[in-house]
Amino acid sequence: MIIMGKIKVTIERDSCIGDMVCVNLCPDVFEMNPEDGKSQIVAKWRVDPNDLSTGLVDDSLEECVKSAAESCPVSIIKLEKA
Ligand code: SF4
Repeated sequence: MIIMGKIKVTIERDSCIGDMVCVNLCPDVFEMNPEDGKSQIVAKWRVDPNDLSTGLVDDSLEECVKSAAESCPVSIIKLEKA
């Protein structure tokens, strides 16, 4: 039996430079906010609908979120096993 875990994803949005690297690498989890031009968590993964910075994603998306976290030029995407 495979037990699915979750990964907590946090974006330090204040420091986002809006280059869309995470969105291009992992659009299932990251999207651009049209108002402030910064990355945010796609609504379906948000822990709190009003908190654009924090998501809890299925670990089937681990490679996707990892590639985004590793490629973010300002290293503001944090991952944590949840
Ligand atoms: S890769 Fe980093 S700096 Fe670029 S949009 Fe995503 S969170 Fe912002």
